[in-house]
Amino acid sequence: MSFTLAIVGRPNVGKSTLFNRLVGKRLALVDDQPGVTRDLREGEARLGDLRFTVIDTAGLEDATDDSLQGRMRRLTERAVDMADVCLFMIDARTGVTPIDEMFAEILRKRSAHVMLAANKAEGAAADAGVIEAWGLGLGEPIRLSAEHGEGLNDLYAQLQPLADEF
Ligand code: GDP
Ligand code: MG
Repeated sequence: MSFTLAIVGRPNVGKSTLFNRLVGKRLALVDDQPGVTRDLREGEARLGDLRFTVIDTAGLEDATDDSLQGRMRRLTERAVDMADVCLFMIDARTGVTPIDEMFAEILRKRSAHVMLAANKAEGAAADAGVIEAWGLGLGEPIRLSAEHGEGLNDLYAQLQPLADEF
């Protein structure tokens, strides 16, 4: 049995960086520039002995301010409906933003399994953001650095029980 994990969150928090690390191939573009990646991208993830499908949500980077929230909402809902579990990612260096709060609200309503990742958490500069993430009401934040490959053991520990469930 296996499961599908959707990585969701606002642009630039590091979703594609984690996707690339899990899939191990450059299937998703990682870019600081707007308008590069689109829609949903699927890959076969490996994490220790776990094998699962991972969905990277993109397609938000080229939205204008007016359309961004609506597009985020629709795309996130699509990804959530395809997935058994969602990894909601925030940027621990920035802390929790109003858009993060909007995502958390969607996910609290929509998905049974939501995990919270506070990314870019390498170093002490992220400590305040990680603590702030508790306030989203989605449980204990997984302290991650997708770029440096830190925190993957904690991600594994939260995902491993799902491998038996699905
Ligand atoms: P996405 O828009 O959520 O898919 O974010 P990306 O994966 O494209 O990453 C956005 C930016 O954040 C890029 O410049 C990444 O190199 C950077 N980034 C991703 N993960 C980390 C991390 O763990 N630490 C730091 N400091 N930067 C990161
Ligand atoms: Mg991306």
